Amino acid sequence: MPKSSKQKKSIKTEKKVKMLFQGSKGMHDILPSEQPWWDKLRKVSQEVANFYNFSRIDTPILEPVEIFERGTGMTTDIVEKEMFTLRTKGGDRLALRPENTPGIVRAYLEHGLSHLPQPLKLYYFGPFFRYQQPQFGRYRQFNQIGFEILGGEDDPIYDAQIILISFRLIEELKIKNPVVQLNSLGCKNCRSIYRRKLQDYYRKLPAKICKDCRRRLLVNPLRLLDCKNENCEKAKAGAPTMLDYLCPACRNYFREVLEYLDELNLPYNLNSYLVRGLDYYNRTVFEIFSEGQSIALAGGGRYDYLGEMLGARKSSLSAIGCALGAEAIIEVMKAQGIPGLAKTKAKIFLIQIGKPAKKRSVSLIEKFYRVGIKVVEALGKESLKSQLKIADKEGVEMALILGQREVFEESIIIRDMKSGAQETVPLSKVVEEVKRRLR
Ligand code: AMP
Repeated sequence: MPKSSKQKKSIKTEKKVKMLFQGSKGMHDILPSEQPWWDKLRKVSQEVANFYNFSRIDTPILEPVEIFERGTGMTTDIVEKEMFTLRTKGGDRLALRPENTPGIVRAYLEHGLSHLPQPLKLYYFGPFFRYQQPQFGRYRQFNQIGFEILGGEDDPIYDAQIILISFRLIEELKIKNPVVQLNSLGCKNCRSIYRRKLQDYYRKLPAKICKDCRRRLLVNPLRLLDCKNENCEKAKAGAPTMLDYLCPACRNYFREVLEYLDELNLPYNLNSYLVRGLDYYNRTVFEIFSEGQSIALAGGGRYDYLGEMLGARKSSLSAIGCALGAEAIIEVMKAQGIPGLAKTKAKIFLIQIGKPAKKRSVSLIEKFYRVGIKVVEALGKESLKSQLKIADKEGVEMALILGQREVFEESIIIRDMKSGAQETVPLSKVVEEVKRRLR
């Protein structure tokens, strides 16, 4: 049908409005059709957290920039390139949190949580922000589920527990064949020897490494191992590995972590290139992948030095944690045909015809609410036919029909949607009658 000039004009304006109000780059809406997967992830995360006795913690989305500069590290991509920062009118420098570990440790120290029974087991689920080039599975706003164990003894059992809980969550979601990649980054002492060995190796190497890595070689040589540049990937083959330089204490510690994983029957591969890129990690670091996926579903590690870096009075706060990427998990669930959480389907549809019936409908629905029976309706519609059509689409078992006559007689019709059989019952008895029929 040809459009009138007025219609054309309004379409033009609409297009213009759409262009003006597109969501910002790399930020995505989670529409109602996506929610069943999110509901499932939230539900299973909470169940797993409850079982392993992790308490929920929510920290602010905005944190002082300094906790990431000091904690995550000035030479990391996250701090160097990826933080969304702002200055408040009062002059404070804040960042939209790019990750949660420094925020959790800040909260732990600020609220004196070391006075609670230790270790403290915490979990969270929330949004994070990184200014990255959007690409498959990478957003500028994304969500993570995290588990942290802070305080208490420096015990490899907690490393195994954190790996177990991330693995269990992925497995509970029925994601196929998750595998843990594992490495140890040692402690301050053995790592500094390893850093020098790594610098020696790269300095003698004739192959060219990228510009970023030439700088990293001076300030953070471990980062050369996770650079994705083609030349740097080639250059790392033959690089010395951390596991060969672990001091006896770190080697024993790592061996014990592996023994616990063996006891738990968790599948893992040692990966000497896994460095996780952040300054605060020591000893165990890990990532979890699903078969055939290049994006990690989870990543974590031990961070015993972070408390000190953020000003803890005690020299070391034993801690280990992990973060699972919600978007990555949901993308894999969908790719593997794993359904989201089914919404509880309503069994009852209320049809109203005429003003007085519409008025009675609102209080009638509340009566069903009080006994926990879900009732769907189309209160804006008027005709019986159109409402029956919607009831049919909803797939309900029964339709309740309230017309002018029924309101006058204080009655209501119950229609069995399968057989079409109808029965009139007193309005005062309808909740009881529906309850009986649903049994
Ligand atoms: P990280 O905090 O970088 O160790 O990331 C932990 C997990 O969060 C990763 O394994 C990813 O699944 C997810 N993740 C990290 N960055 C992003 C991003 N920009 N967009 C979506 N998911 C992300």
